[in-house]
Amino acid sequence: MHDDDGKRFTGPSDLHLHSVCSDGTEPPADVMASAHRHGLRTVSLTDHDTTAGWAEAAEAATSLGMTLLPGMEFSAQHEWRSVHMLSYLFDPEHPALRAETERIRDDRIGRAERMVNSIGRDYDLTWDDVLAQTTADATVGRPHIADALVARGLAADRSAAFDGLLHPRRGYYEPHYAPDPFRVVDLVTAAGGVVIMAHPASGRGVLPSSLLRDLIDAGLAGFEIGHRENTEEGKRLLRRLVAESDLIVTGSSDYHGRGKPNVPGENTTSDEMVERIIERATGTAPVYPS
Ligand code: AMP
Ligand code: FE
Ligand code: FE
Ligand code: ZN
Repeated sequence: MHDDDGKRFTGPSDLHLHSVCSDGTEPPADVMASAHRHGLRTVSLTDHDTTAGWAEAAEAATSLGMTLLPGMEFSAQHEWRSVHMLSYLFDPEHPALRAETERIRDDRIGRAERMVNSIGRDYDLTWDDVLAQTTADATVGRPHIADALVARGLAADRSAAFDGLLHPRRGYYEPHYAPDPFRVVDLVTAAGGVVIMAHPASGRGVLPSSLLRDLIDAGLAGFEIGHRENTEEGKRLLRRLVAESDLIVTGSSDYHGRGKPNVPGENTTSDEMVERIIERATGTAPVYPS
């Protein structure tokens, strides 16, 4: 999906950034400007379960002289556990993929409303408070409830809200629908895209190696090893799998604007790995600066 005269992008590359189309705090164009200000030259917008920001990001990125790999962070679930799958350069019109992301986004709304109703029985919080923190059509998540809690003075910031009322142990947490990781690999691959598991060694540790090997056999292309939430022990384990199967390795910031401390470019992906993602994809071409 690129000229035969070789590489048309330059690093540094950060392939995991969020905008107000999901739970970032900046519009896509501002995310691109922030990335550029931090010295990045190849980027991916990877909002949760939506491609709504692609057009605005493409225009902003190219006008700044950056290359954009259109992307998305697909919500998946293995048993009770949420698994995030970075998906790059897939065809956003692929019917089954579109249907699945619409189903996730729809279910996320009902789930957020149930959480807010339940919090609202004990605290002064309404669904309107959450809507006031959410851009039209955004993929709704706990970060928007967190912002509403902050606006109501019920939490100091997003992190405090996640450690407080939004933490599952407080009893207000509700799950939302998400497909299993194999279905995500199948859908994104069918749509010509490339799947890299996001922050695979964060929080509750790495998924069982046997499951990861099965996902690799099914088409999982690699792991986001450079991510602030991955543990050192988890990264060592992932590197063994990478060596075993010659996988793609990425590093990225997972920037959410003011929603998280993560800074664009705090982790980056090598040119070689960006090239491998581009070569493997057939669904959508990267957007190069003119
Ligand atoms: P949800 O998918 O609605 O359950 O919400 C999960 C999202 O919340 C993730 O995509 C993270 O970006 C965000 N998140 C998780 N923990 C925190 C935290 N401590 N501070 C800010 N954002 C968080
Ligand atoms: Fe997020
Ligand atoms: Fe994630
Ligand atoms: Zn993310």
